[in-house]
Formats: sequence, C-alpha cells, structure tokens
Amino acid sequence: MRPAPRLPEHPDFLWSDAPPKKAYDVVVVGGGGHGLATAYHLAKDHGITDVAVLEKGWLAGGNMARNTTIIRSNYLWDESAGIYEHSLRLWETLEEELGTSVLFSQRGVLNLAHSLPDIREGKRRVNANQLNGLDAQWLTPEEIGRLVPILDVTDRPRHPVLGGTFQPRAGIAKHDHVAWGYARAAHALGVDIIQGCEVGGFVTDGDRVTAVETSRGRIGLGRLALCAAGHSSVLADLLGVRLPVQSHPLQALVSELLEPVLDTVVMSNAVHVYVSQAHKGELVMGAGVDPQVGYGQRGSFHVIQDQMAAAVELFPIFARAHVLRTWAGIVDVTPDASPIIGHLDGWANAYLNCGWGTGGFKATPGVGSVYAATVAREHPHPLAEPFALDRFVTGRLIDEHGAAAVAH
Ligand SMILES: Cc1cc2nc3c(=O)[nH]c(=O)nc-3n(C[C@H](O)[C@H](O)[C@H](O)COP(=O)(O)OP(=O)(O)OC[C@H]3O[C@@H](n4cnc5c(N)ncnc54)[C@H](O)[C@@H]3O)c2cc1C
Repeated sequence: MRPAPRLPEHPDFLWSDAPPKKAYDVVVVGGGGHGLATAYHLAKDHGITDVAVLEKGWLAGGNMARNTTIIRSNYLWDESAGIYEHSLRLWETLEEELGTSVLFSQRGVLNLAHSLPDIREGKRRVNANQLNGLDAQWLTPEEIGRLVPILDVTDRPRHPVLGGTFQPRAGIAKHDHVAWGYARAAHALGVDIIQGCEVGGFVTDGDRVTAVETSRGRIGLGRLALCAAGHSSVLADLLGVRLPVQSHPLQALVSELLEPVLDTVVMSNAVHVYVSQAHKGELVMGAGVDPQVGYGQRGSFHVIQDQMAAAVELFPIFARAHVLRTWAGIVDVTPDASPIIGHLDGWANAYLNCGWGTGGFKATPGVGSVYAATVAREHPHPLAEPFALDRFVTGRLIDEHGAAAVAH
C-alpha cells in the first residue's frame, strides 16, 4: 500500500475579497473551479487581467468542493479524448503551475465490467482510447483481484466482475486545494474575486451584453463568461437562450477515517457505485444522479441506501464502515452527456461553459485554458469547437453516455 501523502498546511495568504469595480473587461460568473481556472488563464496566457469572478455564495461552494475528485481522460470519442487528455496533462504539472499542492495522486481508475455488453463496451473504449494515444488497458478478473485485493472477484456477487478497463495515469486530487490554488494564482495576477455577489439580470444593447445586475450593484463588462454549472440554464434563460440542459442533484458520501485499504479508484456502472479512499483515509463514494430535476442541493435517501448496498456487495469489508456525511450538488446534464463550450448563441460578447454534468472536476485545468482562449480570441479554441451549442441543431452529438454514466 502506498503511504498517503502528508496534507499541506493551509497557506497563510489565499486572496483578498475585492469590492466590485464599476466595470471589467471580462466578467466571469461562477466562482467554482471552472470560473477560477478560466480567470487564471485569461490573465496568465492572454494578459487579460481586468477580470472579475462573481460568486453568489462562497468560493467553490458549488460543485467544486462537493465532487468526488475523479480525474481521467478515457472517454470514447476523439473530441472528448482531446479535451480530457489535454486536461489530464495539465493536472500532471498543476502543482508547479500554481505553486501549491493539490494532492494530485495518479493511483489509476478501474471501471468494472459485469456483463457481455459491459465487456464489449469496455473493450471498444480501450481500443478507441489506445488509438488516441491514451494509457487504457483491459484487465482480466485475476488482474483486477491482484490490483484491488479487497474487491470480491468471485462469482458470489449478484453482478460478478468479468473484467474491467483501467487507466493508470488517472486518479484523484484535493478539490478545495485546487480552488484555493487557482484563486490565489489568479488574484496574484490582478483578477478580482468577489464572493457574495449573485448575478440576477443582464443589461443589453443590441446583440451585446453590457452589464450584469448583481446583489452588489450593476457591474459593466466587455465580455461575459458564464461558468455557473448547475445554474447555467437559469442564467442563459435571462438572456433568452433555452439551453438543452437539465439540472439534477448528484449525491456523494464519505465514511469515517480508515486505515489505507484502497489505492485505486473503482467504478461500476452495473452495480452503480464508485469508491476511492481519500488522502485523509475516508472512503469517498458516489452513484448516479437523482432522477428528479431541481436546484435544492439535496438528494433522496434511497439513492444513498442503494449505493451502500452496491458498495458492500463489491467490497464485503466495507460492511463495518460507518457513513459520516452525505451531501449533494447540482449537476448540469446535456442530452449527449458532453459539455457545451463556446459562444452563447445570439450574443456577440457572451460565452458559455456548462453541461459537464457529473464529470467536470477533471476538466478544470483544461476548461481553464481552452475556455479562456475562446473568450480571449473571441473564437473557439480547436478543442472547444466540437462542443459548440449548435451541435444540438446540427445533430453532431458527442454521445458519452457509456463513459459518463455512473463514471464521473
Ligand atoms: C457529488 C458530486 C460528485 C462529482 N464527482 C465528480 C468526479 O468525481 N469527477 C469529476 O470530474 N467531476 C465530478 N463532479 C462534477 C463536477 O463537480 C462539476 O462538473 C464541476 O465542478 C463543474 O464546474 P465548477 O467547478 O465550476 O462548478 P461549481 O463549483 O458548481 O461552480 C459554479 C458556481 O457558480 C455559482 N453561481 C451559480 N449561479 C450564480 C449566479 N447567478 N451568480 C453568481 N454565481 C453563481 C455557484 O454558486 C457555483 O459556485 C461531481 C459533482 C457532484 C455534485
């Protein structure tokens, strides 16, 4: 078992909470990982430092610090492999980039197959991933048993393990450290981070958005970059754009702190659970989205119950662990389970980044660089181009349901 890395001290200085100025070149709405990373890259890569990140609550109080931090790039289609692998490469140097520890741990992510369709889908994905140069592997039940000895690979479970896909470079990181790291680095480059500042309306002139109406007054802008995850459709609606996005609660939970027992991330679509062990020792588990739509950040108890039953079926030794805490975030799900990045249709100076659903944490550094380039150049970055909103009109969908179902 690899020793858990030491948690770093909370840094003395993070960022100062700026009072809003009258106007900014770029206003980013949403102080989650994507908004902060975008602001950082606008400043660092494009010299655009007159930037405000407006956050209605507290920094990273949305999905950013509610997610289960799984990072991987083994999606099926070329377009997805392009953007997620770009992001994974940025994760590999993020600590040096931000000058702070984010506890990125490449412990591998294993997706279990429990049926013939699972095997076909998994092998198809491994082949597609390898053609895209990704480190994807197919493992037999014996190899899985050696990799994760506490997993039941006998024929006892209701859904026996028949194999699995494995990406060794995948892993986890510490989400709040990632948010602090981006906030600190963006702030050092001149970005204003404004918390407790809810955007409730827009001022427009022709096809341009000229200001946002916020709980702290009107703020003028040259360009608008929406990064509001589960609340994106509410904001776009205020600009007359109906997004093909549904917002669902997605739950997760942690156990009490345990000795190290699991150093790989394990996911199962069929049994419907995924598990990793965080640096501190708690088991981190999640499942699929709650079926109802809503913005309540509360899920239903039966989802947690089913997820626990599934976890114990795969990992009998978890039967004695206790659940410490459960929570939910609001995830923005598109019809093809792929994100939307690019111009907000109908508006000359407004941009949209949303639809990452259950899997946008891993994309944080990638979104930051790609979305910032799109906003800065007022033209889609090549990796963003296929993810434009108009694919729901042209029909050029990027169907990632197979890679993104329970798999975050
Ligand atoms: C339980 C759970 C588990 C997950 N697990 C994973 C995982 O393992 N791996 C993975 O890759 N992804 C995972 N995700 C998905 C991931 O968290 C999201 O896709 C990603 O965090 C979205 O980008 P973000 O960080 O910017 O979102 P958020 O942190 O939600 O940022 C959006 C921000 O916008 C703010 N906002 C909204 N409306 C307004 C407004 N009107 N004015 C101002 N601010 C506003 C919100 O308060 C919020 O802070 C998970 C999500 C959840 C909920």
